[in-house]
Amino acid sequence: MDCIFCKIAHGEIPVDLLHDDGTVVAFHDLAPQAPTHILIIPKEHHANVGNLAAASPETVGRLFAVAQLLADERSLDGHRTVFNTGESAGQSVFHAHLHLMGGRSFTWPAG
Ligand code: 5GP
Ligand code: ZN
Repeated sequence: MDCIFCKIAHGEIPVDLLHDDGTVVAFHDLAPQAPTHILIIPKEHHANVGNLAAASPETVGRLFAVAQLLADERSLDGHRTVFNTGESAGQSVFHAHLHLMGGRSFTWPAG
């Protein structure tokens, strides 16, 4: 399977890893949409968060725990966490990933 996030998770594409606990890794988004924009992903391939939750609900919890850890390390006073599911919602990489964004104000509803 040709999945860019699998390659990053397994070290086949070198990136600056911000977190690696054996189950979950985190790295900077290539095209940041905020001063802090980090992607937190399971090492195991699942096409979206719903599939991940069905197979491994504890890993979904771990993604959010890592997001909080990274937000705290950066002393973010607020942050937004997002999973996009499906092209119409903006998903472009079909390996589940949690966006952690912070360092600016966000509007609601999300665009
Ligand atoms: P999605 O649109 O699927 O919710 O988010 C995919 C994200 O992955 C986008 O924000 C995009 O900038 C980022 N991205 C795509 N390819 C790469 C890559 O090769 N390296 C990194 N670090 N980020 C990537
Ligand atoms: Zn993958």
